[in-house]
Amino acid sequence: MLSNGLIKTFIILSSVLVFACSESEDMKNPFYTSYETDFEVPPFSDIKDEHFLPAFEKGMKEHNLEIQSIIDNDNTPSFENVIVALERSGDLLNKVGAVFFNISQSNTNKNLENIERKISPRLTQHYDAISLNPKIFRKVKNLWDNIDHLNLNNEQKKLLEENYKQFVRNGSLLKGEDKKRYADINQNISELSVQFAQNLLAETNGFELILDEGDLSGLPQDVIDLAGQEAIRRAEEATKEENRKKYKEKYVFTPHRSSMYPFLTYSTRRDLREQLYKAYIMRGDNNNQNDNKKIVSKIASLRVERANLLGFKSHAHYSLDDKMAKTPEAVYELLYQLWDPALARAKNELQEMQDIVDREGHNFEVASWDWWHYSEKVRKEKYDLDEEEIKVYFSLDNAIKGIFTTANKLFGLTFHEIEDIDLYHPDARIWEVKDKDGSHIGTYIGDYFTRPSKRGGAWMSTFKDQSNLDGRERPIVSNVCNFPPPSSGKPSLLSFEHVTTLFHEFGHGLHGLLTNVTYESLSGTSVTRDFVEFPSQVLEHWASEPELLKVYAKHYETGETIPEELINKMVEAGKFNQGFANAEYLAASFLDMDWHTLETSKIQDTVSFEKSSLEKIGLIDEIVSRYRTTYFQHIFSSGYSAGYYSYIWAAVLDSDAFDAFKQSSDIFNPKLADNYRQFILEAGGTEDPMVLYEKFRGQKPTIDALLEDRGLN
Ligand SMILES: [Zn+2]
Repeated sequence: MLSNGLIKTFIILSSVLVFACSESEDMKNPFYTSYETDFEVPPFSDIKDEHFLPAFEKGMKEHNLEIQSIIDNDNTPSFENVIVALERSGDLLNKVGAVFFNISQSNTNKNLENIERKISPRLTQHYDAISLNPKIFRKVKNLWDNIDHLNLNNEQKKLLEENYKQFVRNGSLLKGEDKKRYADINQNISELSVQFAQNLLAETNGFELILDEGDLSGLPQDVIDLAGQEAIRRAEEATKEENRKKYKEKYVFTPHRSSMYPFLTYSTRRDLREQLYKAYIMRGDNNNQNDNKKIVSKIASLRVERANLLGFKSHAHYSLDDKMAKTPEAVYELLYQLWDPALARAKNELQEMQDIVDREGHNFEVASWDWWHYSEKVRKEKYDLDEEEIKVYFSLDNAIKGIFTTANKLFGLTFHEIEDIDLYHPDARIWEVKDKDGSHIGTYIGDYFTRPSKRGGAWMSTFKDQSNLDGRERPIVSNVCNFPPPSSGKPSLLSFEHVTTLFHEFGHGLHGLLTNVTYESLSGTSVTRDFVEFPSQVLEHWASEPELLKVYAKHYETGETIPEELINKMVEAGKFNQGFANAEYLAASFLDMDWHTLETSKIQDTVSFEKSSLEKIGLIDEIVSRYRTTYFQHIFSSGYSAGYYSYIWAAVLDSDAFDAFKQSSDIFNPKLADNYRQFILEAGGTEDPMVLYEKFRGQKPTIDALLEDRGLN
């Protein structure tokens, strides 16, 4: 404790020296003082764009000084003077980063975009310098080697392990030539990944299907309008007269999914569907200057070499070592268990579509580019569900009532909206969350409506994480969505997909809100990527439960409860096209695993590698892997290599977990809810996820419930 007191004094003194010249500026920067607000919500109306950069700079300087003082501490390394000191370091940086990165995602502007461009590479450098610092590593290793003699509890052991493993996984044990080679490989991979992404972007933007009015048969008016606007936009951007002419009174479709899927679904022009879909699946494989084939085989090869340096057989072995799945064998086992039922179901779906083609008197066999068009016809016949008919029961306020009721019935939480706290945008709302005994649990911010300053999609994040290290610190959790705002006198009305999204993000939110651990870096959603989607996906199950729907799904005008018949239709429709959806997803997961279980750094022929990978599982020609190798961005230019399986891994858990509630005949079973809260939500990353899961469930998960949920049994 004494050493920490010294560190703090040292930092405060140094900051005064370093920043004495700008003292008056400092006084005005809200990040430099503690927030004197209710629940320590950042004082958004005082925070100006110009506060961020100086606070980032100062935050990095302070953090470096803190790290230096850990290094300079001559006392024998202890859990307290190394691990806890690391845990406490970087306060200001965390504080400014939390506000900045939330707002730059949900309410950005040109200033913030500029700051982000400037600060992101600096932060990467800053954190890399710490996570690769050999002097810190020496101290951490000293503790790790003596872990059994340090008298640590389980959470402390886990924190030490996480710290140690992170250093080792970053190559800290390497020496001499190996260390240099390791750094070169990383550099090389990151350059190739950037090249991969740029090529893919060029390929996606490089194809356009320019159509006349006569080519639009089957397309709904809103799809036509968007394609018309795209043509106008391109004409306006064109610099040459001939290009402007090219788009005049035309309609443009592209291999972007948002443009392609509606076209594939509705266009009755089979020849054009084929053209567009082939352009999509050939991206990066056109033997032009944007070709990705050599790049991916090079990346795969370098990853094998890097894994070998770190003592692993393959990149997948390395990557999975710190995940819930642990080994490639465990991932393959799951994928194979699901593959046969998914493929069998997909073949049935194919037959249903072929029947329609035959009935319509056509003389062709359904091909991959027909799947969306004919599955839509099947959907209409078998599950016809009118979105507009459903939406009236799901105003945003009703959906919010749905998530809060779920949290109340499961955990006794109550939500109290606070009107007089200034947030970063008038659309954002804030609630105090109280436990069943009335004590404060945390704060929940909901920012639900779409707007131009918000990036797409939906997500959960935190403005402040939970910890108990220096007193009871409760979290500020945020959900951001892109739902339609109220319009022409109607409230915001959600599709059921939107409602499911709200439950999903709120599931992450509960993970962040209910967590109760000592150390911030293990709190809430700080868990492995194949576990993190479990609490979010499991909450989705409640959304469609008739018992809950009767509470929250009420007509926004009449208050009438959603009819039973409509509920049944919705549940049935959930199983539509699941064979295809699962097969294309699983195929991509196999492909990912095959690339990353390579044990040789020999350069592969990309096309034949992919072909044999998919032949091995018997993928049919009518289905293309959800991502082909040359545009599989998840695994070649973002962090999901040997990780695309994670979604289905978590799905096994969420189906199995919800099944426990169903089996008990009480979807709010108090005993199960208590266990779920204690062992999953409160525990965060303090223990191995499988251990936590078994504590909650009393047994290992099985895939039976997932097969049932997806209609694959
Ligand atoms: Zn999620």
